[in-house]
Amino acid sequence: MQFDSFIGNRKIIGRLRTKLVEGRFPQGLIFSGPEGVGKRTCALMIAKALNCENAQAADFCDACSSCRKIGSGMHCDVTTISVEEDATQIKIAQVRQLLRLLDLQPLEGRNKVFIIDPADLLNPEAANALLKGLEEPPENTFFILITVNVHELLLTVRSRCQVYNFTPLTLDEIRRHGISDELTIRWSQGSIGRARDLDMARLKSDREIVMDFLDTVITAREEQFQDLLGVSAEFGRSKQDFESRMAMLTVLMADVLYAKEGAPQKIVNIDIRERLQKLADRSSVDRLLRMGEFIRFIESSLKSNVNRQMLMDVLAITGNETTAAWLL
Ligand SMILES: [Zn+2]
Repeated sequence: MQFDSFIGNRKIIGRLRTKLVEGRFPQGLIFSGPEGVGKRTCALMIAKALNCENAQAADFCDACSSCRKIGSGMHCDVTTISVEEDATQIKIAQVRQLLRLLDLQPLEGRNKVFIIDPADLLNPEAANALLKGLEEPPENTFFILITVNVHELLLTVRSRCQVYNFTPLTLDEIRRHGISDELTIRWSQGSIGRARDLDMARLKSDREIVMDFLDTVITAREEQFQDLLGVSAEFGRSKQDFESRMAMLTVLMADVLYAKEGAPQKIVNIDIRERLQKLADRSSVDRLLRMGEFIRFIESSLKSNVNRQMLMDVLAITGNETTAAWLL
């Protein structure tokens, strides 16, 4: 796998390769962007290009012993620092260990590369210690910090690095990664990592519960009030699944709106398109937008100690044409 085989975010690859050719490669880099879009893969590619034995202009062979060692995490000069098992943050001791390596010459390659992943989990002391390394890195030393959100990093750290913002992949780019199931592709949200990890059977069974809720909320008549509270109770019962079900509800609501607006190509859940269309036909844009607003409110209040069941009941009642009228 060489730079040409990297799928998505081609502009970033282009800019990095230009820098490699120019020979003044930045010693501090931040790769920021959603999970599973290739930030870590790209960092390893840079490490390979900086150490490949068959040095090519701004590329690597991926076959020499250096490239292979980097690929398998066995190269002495390419170190990844991440959260240790049983810990929740990167500790200062790990960074101190790294700093001790700074004064040493590369052991087997031309350049030392330190990959910090995820850099947003550096605890504050560790981040401050890392600054020392970033301020005046010895020649032949490069830092690549990987994070989901660059704004989570200390300003002082950010100001010493060049930031590259990775974006989600397009549907087509996910397909080019060899994913063929259309529903998986659409649920990947532009993340190849997510596409590979998705458990579609589980997703579909969860989705059934969420669809039951949405179906009933949109279509229940006055005499079906008990059904309405029933699906709401079922939804509210989910404990650790609650947030993921809310996220799923958001996607399904967006699908109903796309069906309503005549933009079916944007629908994620294409396997239940007809069911979504029926809901779109039964609901008004106004009601759907109101539900969407309330879902955002629920999501934003999840961190505080809210009564989820009560919020779901309110969502169900405001989402239903008949019961919503009671509230006025
Ligand atoms: Zn090589």
